[in-house]
Amino acid sequence: MLTKLKPSGSIPDRSLYERRESAVRSYARSMPRQFGKAEGVWMHDDQGGRYLDFLSGCSTLNYGHNHPILKQALLDYIAADGIAHGLDLHTEAKAEFLKTFEELILEPRGLDYRAMFTGPTGTNAVEAAIKLARKVTGRELVIAFTNGFHGMTLGALACTGNAAKRGGAGVPLAHVSHEPYDGYYGPDVDTADLLEQRLADPSSGLDAPAAILVETVQGEGGLNAASPEWLRRIAGIAKAHGALLIVDDIQAGCGRTGGFFSFEDMGFTPDIVTLAKSLSGMGLPFALTLLRPELDQWAPGEHNGTFRGNNHAFVTAAAALRHFWSTGDFLRDVERRGALLAKRLGRIAAEHGFEVRGRGMMRGINVGSGELAASVTAACFDAGLIIETSGPHDEVIKVLAPLVIDDAVLGAGLDILETSIREVMATDYAVAAE
Ligand SMILES: *Cc1c(COP(=O)(O)O)cnc(C)c1O
Repeated sequence: MLTKLKPSGSIPDRSLYERRESAVRSYARSMPRQFGKAEGVWMHDDQGGRYLDFLSGCSTLNYGHNHPILKQALLDYIAADGIAHGLDLHTEAKAEFLKTFEELILEPRGLDYRAMFTGPTGTNAVEAAIKLARKVTGRELVIAFTNGFHGMTLGALACTGNAAKRGGAGVPLAHVSHEPYDGYYGPDVDTADLLEQRLADPSSGLDAPAAILVETVQGEGGLNAASPEWLRRIAGIAKAHGALLIVDDIQAGCGRTGGFFSFEDMGFTPDIVTLAKSLSGMGLPFALTLLRPELDQWAPGEHNGTFRGNNHAFVTAAAALRHFWSTGDFLRDVERRGALLAKRLGRIAAEHGFEVRGRGMMRGINVGSGELAASVTAACFDAGLIIETSGPHDEVIKVLAPLVIDDAVLGAGLDILETSIREVMATDYAVAAE
C-alpha cells in the first residue's frame, strides 16, 4: 500500500495564507499542503497526494477521519432538522448522549459523575474544573506538574509548564505551583514523597491547594507516563490535604491509553475529569467536565458559554460510544495494537540508543534533540506520513495513529518512521555530529 502513497502535492496559492492568515498558524508550516479530503487513517491534499495520519488531530480522531457510522448519524440528524444550536436547552441529542454515556461508560465502571458541558474546547473544560475546585475548597492554589499541558486560556495556561506558551499570556500566571512529575528527577527520586513532604511542612511555603491537576500520560509534555503507584499516591495526597484531584484526560482518554479513561483499574477515582479531543468521535468541538455530584455547587450560569453542548457532537459522540464501547472488542484491538506499537518502537529505539515513552496507543521515541526529531518528521512527511513531536525541546516523536488503524497499515507507517530515522541518522546527523 505504500507504493500508492503520492505525497507530491503542493499548495497552489501559498501567498493567500501568507497574506491573510495570522502568523500564529503552526502545523501548516511543517506540512505545507492544502488538504481536501480524509477518510479513516488517510488524508488527501488537493494535488493528489495521500498521507497516512499518525497525528490524528493530536488524538482528536481516535476513530479515524469521517467514520462512516458517525458520519451517517450526523447526516441523518441534520436531514431531519435536528437542533444544531440550543444554548444549554434540553435536546433529544443531549438526552441521547447523556443516557448512552451513563449506560456504556459511567455505570459499567461504577463511576458517579455529573456532566458539565463547558465551552467546546479542552481548555474551557480545564477552566471550569479549576474554577470549581477553587469555589468548593475556598482555596486559590492549584498544583500542576512539570511538563503538564492543559490549554491556552489564562487559567489553564497558568497550569501549563511550557515557557513559550506561557509567554503568550502577557500577564502574570499566578496561583499555580508546578511540582515535579513522576520521574522528573530520574528513577531514584520519588516525587510523590517530595510533594507530600512539602504539603506536610507548615513552613515549606506551599499553600494548601484547591486541586491537584494531572495528566496520567503527558501528551504535549513528551509522553511521560506516570506509574499507577505514583498516581495513587498523588490521589491519596490530594485527599489527605483536602484538595480535589483533577485528571485531565483530554488527550489520554477516549481509548488512547487503553480504557475509556486513562486511570481505569488504577485504584483511585478522580474528583473531576476533563474530556474533549476525541469525545465527539469525529473531530467536532465538544468538551466535558465530569464532577462528583457533591461538588456540583455551581449557581445556574456561573460558568457560561454560547456553545455549551454542541448538538452535532452529541449525536456523533453517542454514535461513537454505541459503536465502539458497547462491547470489549474495540478495547482488545487497541490493546493488541498498543503492544505491537511498543514492540516496533522498542526495536527502532534500540537500534539508535533512543528511549521509548508512553502507554497504550500513545507512545513515541525520545530522540534526544528537537532538531533531529524535526528532521525525522520532515522526512516522514516527504514519504507520506504525518507525524509530530512533543516534549520540552520537541525531542519526542509522537505516534498518535487512529485507534482503528489496521495492524498492517500501522506497521507500514512504522516502516516509514524506521526508514526516516535511519536516513536522517546516516546523513544529516552524521554530518552535524562531526
Ligand atoms: C489539547 C489539550 C488541552 C486543551 O484542549 P483544547 O481543545 O486545545 O483547548 C488540555 N489538556 C490536554 C491534556 C490536552 O492534550
